[in-house]
Amino acid sequence: MNRITPITANTFRSDGGAMFGLVPKVLWSRLIEPNENNAILQRATVLLVELEDGRKALVDCGCGDPADFSERERKIHELDEEWLLPKALATQGLGLEDIDAVILGHAHWDHAGALCRADGAPQFPNADIYLRAAELECALGGDPLLYKSYPEKIRNSLRSLRERIHPVADAFGDIFPGIRMLPAPGHSAGQAAIYFEQPELAGKGTVPAAMFAGDNCPSRHHLRMVFQTAYDTEPLRTRAWKREWFPRCAEEGIWLLLTHDSSVRGIQIAADPKREYVEIDQYEF
Ligand SMILES: [Zn+2]
Repeated sequence: MNRITPITANTFRSDGGAMFGLVPKVLWSRLIEPNENNAILQRATVLLVELEDGRKALVDCGCGDPADFSERERKIHELDEEWLLPKALATQGLGLEDIDAVILGHAHWDHAGALCRADGAPQFPNADIYLRAAELECALGGDPLLYKSYPEKIRNSLRSLRERIHPVADAFGDIFPGIRMLPAPGHSAGQAAIYFEQPELAGKGTVPAAMFAGDNCPSRHHLRMVFQTAYDTEPLRTRAWKREWFPRCAEEGIWLLLTHDSSVRGIQIAADPKREYVEIDQYEF
């Protein structure tokens, strides 16, 4: 059985409006309070996965070491001073070198930023990197319209780690027993949702299934179809993905694990005649 421990790799803030796209501030600010810069608190949650065979994987790796950002960048993102990921891994008796695999849902700065240091050295020297082939193409394909989504630091990291990257085709089965990368286009065209069959959630126990939905559902406030980030490069596909997967999550009891929620790591959802989908249970660790 794969054991999942959610970890806060970093905390930062993003513009609240950008996190909720078309939703007016009068609505989203009732759900989550912005600070004086109109920014809302976000956790970069990553998943430490103890695989059945004893190897250790991370799903996403967060923003990276704040020391690798310029002062201006740290200020813009209100990035936490301290790099929380190594400290959290240390509490599990692990160092960065003990990570055997990094499974990336998508390659934006706050999910793949920790792959390499500013000087290009790999942060996880023994890790193989798993990424949907479609997302690798988004990041390195050179589309000038995506230059903001995949900044130079990320592109350089992916290029320098090329030999260790396993581009995952969509027809591919389990990347590890009980773990699959499912296409979850919308936030980015190549995004994957990471699906776990019967995992153990730390502090909770075994659940039927769990899915780390990336930024197609970054927080528990993103259940409604149009509650989606303004960063989505294919917004209608985000909604189509929710329409496909939320009924399954509700019917099959799949736990939705949340990448940026500042208070819970996961939720279970149910259909609601008025509000489309609502949460019926929460998981925090
Ligand atoms: Zn994100």
